[in-house]
Parts: sequence; C-alpha cells; structure tokens
Amino acid sequence: MSGPPSVPAGNGMEGPGALEALGARVSAARADAEARGETFYPGASRVHLAAFPPKERWDDWVELSSRAWPAREERHYMLVPTTCFNCESACGLLAYVDRDTGQVRKFEGNPEHPGSRGRNCAKGPATINQVTDPDRILYPLRRAGARGEGRWERITWDAALDALAARIRAAITSGRQNEIMVHIGRPGEDGFTERVLASWGVDGHNSHTNVCSSGGRAGFQFWMGIDRPSPDHANAKVIYLISSHLEAGHYFNPHAQRITEARANGAKVIVLDTRLSNTATHADYWLSPQPGSEAAINLAIAGHLIRSGRYDAGFVRRWWNWQEYMAECHPDLPGTFDAFQRVLAGLYTGFTFEFAAAESGVDEAVIAEVADVVTHAGSRFSCHSWRSAAAGNLGGWQVSRTLFLIAALLGAVGTEGGTFPNAWNKFVPRPIHVPPHPGVWQELSWPLEYPLAQNELSFLLPHFLKDGRGRLDTYFTRVYNPVWTNPDGLSWMEVLTDEDKVGCFVALTPTWNESAYFADYVLPMGHASERHDTHSYEQYDGQWVGFRQPVLRAASERRGAKITDTRQVNPGEVWEENEFWIELSWRIDPDGSLGVRQYYESRERPGDKLTVDEYYGWMFANSVPGLPERAGRDGLSPLEYMRRYGAFEITRGQGGVHEQEVPEAELAGVRITPLGRAYSAAAPPPALNIAPMGAPEPDSAGRRPVGVMIDGVIRRGFPTPSGRLEFWSSTLAAWGWPEHALPGYIRSHVHPANLEPGQLVLLSTFRLPTQVHTRSANSKWLDELSHTNPVWIHPADAARLRIARTGDLVRVETEIGYFVAKAWITEGIRPGVVACSHHMGRWRLDDHAQVSAGGMMATVDLARHEDGWAMRAREHVRPYQSADPDTARIWWSDTGVHQNLTFPVHPDPISGMHCWHQAVRVRPAQPGDAHGDIAVDTARAREVYREWLAMTRPAGSVSPDGTRRPKWLMRPLKPTAGAFRIPGAVAGGAESSP
Ligand code: SF4
Repeated sequence: MSGPPSVPAGNGMEGPGALEALGARVSAARADAEARGETFYPGASRVHLAAFPPKERWDDWVELSSRAWPAREERHYMLVPTTCFNCESACGLLAYVDRDTGQVRKFEGNPEHPGSRGRNCAKGPATINQVTDPDRILYPLRRAGARGEGRWERITWDAALDALAARIRAAITSGRQNEIMVHIGRPGEDGFTERVLASWGVDGHNSHTNVCSSGGRAGFQFWMGIDRPSPDHANAKVIYLISSHLEAGHYFNPHAQRITEARANGAKVIVLDTRLSNTATHADYWLSPQPGSEAAINLAIAGHLIRSGRYDAGFVRRWWNWQEYMAECHPDLPGTFDAFQRVLAGLYTGFTFEFAAAESGVDEAVIAEVADVVTHAGSRFSCHSWRSAAAGNLGGWQVSRTLFLIAALLGAVGTEGGTFPNAWNKFVPRPIHVPPHPGVWQELSWPLEYPLAQNELSFLLPHFLKDGRGRLDTYFTRVYNPVWTNPDGLSWMEVLTDEDKVGCFVALTPTWNESAYFADYVLPMGHASERHDTHSYEQYDGQWVGFRQPVLRAASERRGAKITDTRQVNPGEVWEENEFWIELSWRIDPDGSLGVRQYYESRERPGDKLTVDEYYGWMFANSVPGLPERAGRDGLSPLEYMRRYGAFEITRGQGGVHEQEVPEAELAGVRITPLGRAYSAAAPPPALNIAPMGAPEPDSAGRRPVGVMIDGVIRRGFPTPSGRLEFWSSTLAAWGWPEHALPGYIRSHVHPANLEPGQLVLLSTFRLPTQVHTRSANSKWLDELSHTNPVWIHPADAARLRIARTGDLVRVETEIGYFVAKAWITEGIRPGVVACSHHMGRWRLDDHAQVSAGGMMATVDLARHEDGWAMRAREHVRPYQSADPDTARIWWSDTGVHQNLTFPVHPDPISGMHCWHQAVRVRPAQPGDAHGDIAVDTARAREVYREWLAMTRPAGSVSPDGTRRPKWLMRPLKPTAGAFRIPGAVAGGAESSP
C-alpha cells in the first residue's frame, strides 16, 4: 500500500532541536533569575510571568487604557476567578470586573489554578464574546406557534417552572419516570445533574459520550476499572499520543504546556494521526496510518517488547490478572508466571512490524524505530488516546486497550512520567445531600442490545423512539444540540417535531442552536462567568478542585452586597442550572410528600430551601481536605477562599495508589479469594456519583472488595473485579465476547478490505482548536479565526478525481446522502483518505432568523421530498447591524458545511461508541451543486441503523446472571440492583422468554 512517508519529523529549524534549544534557554533564564534572587509567581502556576497580577492586588488591579495612549488613563479592576466552559479542560479564568461600571471587561488566565497555571487557549478569553453576544437568549421563552415555526413568547421563570414541575410530578406519580430525560452535552461539573435525577427517582441521565469518547474510555476501563488515563507528560521520556493533544485533544491546554516542558527536557513525542495535525507537526515521530490500523501498530510495538523480553516482568507478575487468565483459558497448563510468560510470548507473534506496516501503510522501519524509542522509555511512558481513532472505527475501543497494553508491559502505570488512572488525579467532593439510586431502568438510553456500552446509546434515541420502544413526556437538553452534533441529525429533527414521541422539549441554553428552534421552552442559562459548578480533572499527578462562579455575584459580595439569586447579577433573566434545578425540584414536591424536597432543604435552616452558598459552603468546609485550614490562614471561610481564588490544590505527587497498603482498620473480617481479591465488611459502599471508577460487587456475604493480595500484602489495587489490571477481561468473556477478551485488533468498518472500489475514508472527528461545538457560533473572535471546514484531499487523489484546485467544490457521498464542500488539496493527509472538521456548518431556517439575527449561521432552505431531505443555504454570513459594532465588520461569508447530517449511525456492538469514519465517494461537484448543500435519505438511515443493531449480542442472550449489564461497570447514574434484572430472566441464566 502506498502512502505518504511516515518519517521522523522536525529535523529543520522549526523542529524539536529548536524547541529544545528554546527550552534550554528558558531553563537557563530561570536559573539566572533565581540566582539574582528574583521570585517566581508564588501561586499554583509557579511560573515566571510578570504579567500575572499578584493575588494581593486583585481587589484593585490597575492597568493603563490602551485606547487612551499616550495619555496615562488608569483603569481599575476587581479580579474575580471563574472557570472556562468552552471545553472540558476547565482552565482557570480571571474576570476583569471594571470597578467603575461593574461590568466584565475581559477574561485572562488565573495563575492560582494548578491545572492551567494562568494559561488559556484562544477560547478562554473569547468568553467575553459569549457574554456580550448581542444575539444571546436573555429571557425564558415559550413557543407560540407550531414546533419549529419560529414564533416565541416571553414568559416568566415562574410560568416555566410551574408548567415543568407539574409535568414532572405527574410523570413521577403515575409511574412514568422513564418519560423524563435530561440530555447533557458538555457537563462542566461533577455529578450535580445526576443527583437531581436520582432525587426524582428517575434514571433519566443521557449524555453525548457515545458520540465523543466512549470508545477510548472502554479500552481503558476494561484494563483498570477507570475509564480515563492521566498521563504524567511533564516527567515522561516518551509521550505517545493517538489524537491531537497539543492543539485540541483532551485537556489540551493543561496537557500541552506539560508536553512542551517535557520536550524541552528531551522527551520524545510520537503522534499517530492520519492527518497532519498541529500536534503532528511538533512530533519527533509522526505516523500517518490507514484509519483503523492504529491498534495493529500498538500491538506490533507490544509484540516487540514481549519478543525482545524488554518488558517489566516484575510489574506484570504483580499487577496483571495473569493467574485468572491462565486458570480460565489455559487450565491444562501450570498456573505459574513462567507458564504465563511462555503463553504471552506466543500471543502476539503475528503482530510483526511487517504486519503493522501492511495494515497501516506506515513504513516498517519507522514502526521498528518507534518501537525502539518506546522500549527505552521504561516506566516514563505517558500515553493518551481519546476521540480520534477510538471514536472513528468499529472496534475502536481496542485502540486504547492496546495502547494501555504498552504502558502495562513497561510498568509505566502510576509512576513518575507514566500513565495513571484518572480517578487518582481527580477529586470529587461529597455534596451536602446524596439521594439514593433510582429504582427504574431507562431502556431508551441503556438498551438490552448493548450490555457493555460505556455510556448511554444517546445517538440512537431517534431510532428507538421510531421503533416505539418508548416516548418522552419531558425532554431537557443542556449544553447540547442533538440535531447538529449527532450523526443523522435529520432523524433527530423528525422526532423532535413529533409531539407523540416527545411531549415537551426544553432547551437549557445560552444561545440559539439548530435544536433549540424546535423546543417548546427555551430557558436562558449562563456562560462561564454566570453560573456555579465544581470540577476536577486529571492533568498532572495531583488533585485539585476548581470553582466556576457568577463573577458579578462574587464581585458584588466583595463590596458587601447580599446576593440571594444569581439572576440578580446576570444579564437579562439569565439563570444558572444549580438554582434552577433546586427551584424546579422544590416545586415538583412542594410539601415533601414525594420525598424529593428533602434533598433541597437547608441544614442550617430546616424547612427552608437550600441556597448555593450553603451547598458549596458545606462542600468546601466538609469534604475538601486541607481547604478549611488553608482558607483559615487567610482569615477566610472555605467558600470565601474559593470565591476569591477559584481553585485549590489538594495533593501533588499522588503516586501509585494501587501500591498503597490497605490499613488494618479496613480489614475487619477480611476474606481473601484464591486469586487474592480481598473482601472486607469494613469497606464503605461506593457513594452515588462520587467515585469516577468501576465499583466491583460485594461477595455473597455482603463484604466489599477492599484490595488485592500482592506478595503477602493487601494493597489497594484497581477497581476491577480481580483488583488487578485486567489483561484478560472476565467481563468481556462472560458477556458474549470471549474472542475480544484480550487486547487485540478488530478490523474497522473502513478497513481497505471493507471498502468498495473507488471509495475513500472520510475522517470527520477532528476538532479545530479555536472552536467550541455549539456555543462558539456566537464568539466573534473565534469565528474570525475559523469559519470554514474544507475537505482535506491528497494531491494524488485530487488528480485522479479531477479536482483541479483548492477551493473547487466537491460532492462527498455517504451511505445516506451527500454534502457539498470546498476542497483543500494538501499533502497533510494520506492518499485514499479525506478529512473534514466537525466544527462548522451552522445553520438556521428562515423562520428562525427573526430570533437569531447574527452569529455564524447560514440561513437555509430545508425541504422534505419523496426520497429524503434537501438543504441549501439561502444566505451565508454577512455583516449586520447590532449593539456590537463589530458585527458590521464581518468580512467573511463562508460557514462551512454540516457534514454530520449525512452520516448514518454506526454503534459499535461492544462499546456503543458511534464509529464516525465514513466510507465515501468523492467527486467534483455536479451541475447545480452549491457549497453547503445537503441531501439525506432518513429511510436509508433506518436501514443502516438496523444493520449495525444486528451486530449486537443482547443481554437477553448473553447475560450470565440475568442482569442487563455487569454491575461493576461505570454508569453515570446507577439504578438499584433490582433494576438491573432483565424482566422475565431467571437467576443465574439468560432471559427465559423473548
Ligand atoms: S483549553 Fe481553552 S477552551 Fe478549554 S478550558 Fe482551557 S481555555 Fe477554555
């Protein structure tokens, strides 16, 4: 297979040599500065940037007005921290609140934030665009005509709350709990919404994770019981990335700055990315594999480690579940480690460099060289795979499972410079009230066909509703735009406009979007500086907790004002979700008879409603170790400390939790299984939504797993059934997929053998670093930076397909339709592969133009014909008059194309992840085609849905114990044990009736 050479990159002036030289100069400058007695920023960032305002001066920070120059005109600011909400990294922001006007003038980085350390990407400062967006939604609205007609009436919050509370109460009291659903795109918080639903007794949490990261998560979860890696990039010798982590991957700003530090210290960066991403341009080795072949490369490297004996046998012996594997799969062999090593040596013999080269198209010598570099990493091997390949391919979850195999062979787990389970580098504080698990099971999100799905089968909801599997009485979306974000968006539109399927659709959103136009209620929620949340993410070997807050509330309170409702300081009647959910829950159960109200009552003033001050005040005072003491040293309460500084670092240098000895106090009545799992009556039950990890089941006597016996010592281990790293997954084996129980290679649905002659692979999963999914349509700076999504195409393909030049229109045909876009002819993509960012192609119907005048949306005509849907842009973006003079300066018109509409659903039968890559035909645009055109046949989309559904092995057939899903697997909202049982199933067996 021919392809672009995958060669060590960066040998020129712009390459790693230059960066290392820069790093050396920075280090030298730092040493010189220290020698001169200069101090570094003393806060959590610990970096030497004089531009960070010292926190002692945050009450009255003075800057000179740039516009008044050369006159020296002072501007006085109060600096108030909050947290960015424009991606999942949760970087710290400092709002510059003008002391004269009381308004936010700008956002910059918060140097007190230990994760982002004062730095942001372009999307952080662009928060000011969202706050001042002249087109934002400021008041509660109710539709005044038919759904989607574009007619709205302003209503009071009271009217909206009373109407919704009545619906939800009626659903709960009439046993229709499963008709309530809250569908969340960007959570931006840890567990608040899940607990709201639990308090209602509703299993109604839905997410976007199966169109985002569940493929990557599943591979990690099967290994370690925890679904995310936490790479200690800063201390690594080798950094191995399957995604664009320096520019747009998971936690990319916090990770990127640590990867950059490691590079300055000599670390090698290996990037597997079919597309020449910005990250790939900074790599020491850029491998551009055939999409879907990444696991084959990982296995060739793992095979090399095994064949050469260059793996950490001591770590493997102590921490892999090899004894269980030998007992179950090789009962005829001695259960010794020697015997296991002999078996291991034979498992991956077929995964040679030659095989990986044939599958991937990457040069065999380059793979061998990369393997050698990996070999020398030792335990300083940090790795990450997130969306990218794991989100693109059938069997993509094996990409992260095989990646972690390399780390597990090197013993680079929980080590300095290695890869940690994320739960060790994350801290989720316990809230004031914890409701019990709901006693119902939502089959629209967790259907029987997908017992091992990592997350909710969210993107199949329209098909399940069309199947008649259920209906929704009240459907909330929150920071979620299903028509635009998901594949097969027109099927979403079909069900969202059908009141028999969705009785009431409530969009909680700060901005208009393609889905909100079809809502019954549009309720305005705040941006990053207008709401409360807590969050904590794995960004280095430490734990921190961050606080998002309404900055004008905090500023007012610093000046002595008493704020009792965030709407008092937000623009218009923009609210926040915490107070909204508290108020809605109170109205669902005003007299407490449903048992809901108790979770929203004050402890300080029994009978009164809980306030956000008490909620967070209790949390920070009672469940964040060290925070009360630290705040006390400044004479502050814990809540005052968090309102003033925005983040708190709990630990640094956490180390390998699995190696910790379990204290004697937790070992009362301990029972050790023959394979070493330790169960104890003293182990506490897992709390609802507190631990982001698997929760292995108690034994028959009700004792809970507390650790694992390793060489005579009971250590914490991992939250897997075995307590060890699960090289062999008993879960996959027992639940119908024994052939995939080991890390392995599943050929993708877009493997060359599965393509028809003339088809190419479309990569549709990559992000632009300067855009947010839905909300950046209203960020003018970001729109000016990025406003189109051309189709990347290699010159060889362009020549073959008679596409003459960049900018020519091409028609990209999928299984269910086509889209028309501009071509970008570039050598930055493999021949045979095309790529298109999923960030563009925002649209609104003409009817909706009256409610959203500007933004980055094309106004389109959308029509349904006999053979499907057709969309055409009537008007692209143009300058317009508004309260913001910049909207009259828009110089571009392109808005890109909404390619996701033309993709059918591709649910992976194991992980449930939507497999985004598409087999497509690309041809020059046909006569009459226009940029942005879309054609979709939703009847054909139904057929593709059924084809993929047929690949599943439903729980009714494979469940070993009559339950719907292994109880130990993570689930954002976990029902009671009884709800896990399949109706009609017999204990210890599968379903007894169809
Ligand atoms: S990486 Fe950028 S968008 Fe994401 S939280 Fe940080 S500043 Fe915001």
